[in-house]
Amino acid sequence: MFLELVDSLRCVRPHEDSWLIARADELVARHIVQGELGCPICEARYEVRDGVADFSVGAPRASAPSPGARDSEALALRAAALLGLTEPGGLVVLAGEWSACVDALLDLAEGVQLLALDPAPTLRSGGALSLALVPDVLPLAAASARGIALDATHATPSLLAGAARALAPGGRLIAPAAARVPESLQELARDDEQWVAAAPRSSVSAPVPIALRR
Ligand SMILES: [Zn+2]
Repeated sequence: MFLELVDSLRCVRPHEDSWLIARADELVARHIVQGELGCPICEARYEVRDGVADFSVGAPRASAPSPGARDSEALALRAAALLGLTEPGGLVVLAGEWSACVDALLDLAEGVQLLALDPAPTLRSGGALSLALVPDVLPLAAASARGIALDATHATPSLLAGAARALAPGGRLIAPAAARVPESLQELARDDEQWVAAAPRSSVSAPVPIALRR
C-alpha cells in the first residue's frame, strides 16, 4: 500500500468521514508492506500484510483469476480507452478481473496510481500499484479517483454507489452491462459487455452552511 494513497482511503464502517492513521512496521520504497490502518472515529483496524491492505473484515471475496498476457493487454487497452486515461496522473481503481491488466495499463497510462481491489494472487504491491481486499463497501474518499472499473463480482449496488461517490468531477466508471448506472453519473457509452459513465464536471460547489456570528 503506497503511503501517499492512504490519504484517499476511508474506513468501511458507516460514520462521519475521516482519514485513516497509518502505522508501518515495514516500509519499502514508500509502500507499507506490513502494518496497520486505524480509524480514529470507530477504532477499526485494517491490517496490511505483504503490501495488501485488508478491509474485508474477515469476509474476503475469491481472488480474481490470473490472466494470460494477451488478455491482459486487450483489457488494459479497453480500460485506458473507456476511462479516458490520456492525461497523466490521478488514481485509477481496478476491481477483481480488471486487476489482471495492471502491468499493461501502467505501460499505457503515464503517471497514474493504481489501486487493485481483490486482485489476482500473483500481483505484488510496489511502484505505482497498491492492493486491497474489500467488503461490500468501497474504502475510498469522496472525489478521490479519476477512474474506477468494477467487474461482475464487484458491481453490487453498494459498490456502485460507493464508486459514484469516489469519482472526482469528470471521473469515469466502467461496470458490467447488467449493472444499473448510478443516478449521479451520466452514461457515455455501452456495448454488450460494459457501460462507461462519467461524474458531472460541476463548477458549482456544494452548498456551505453559513454560521452567523453575533
Ligand atoms: Zn471507522
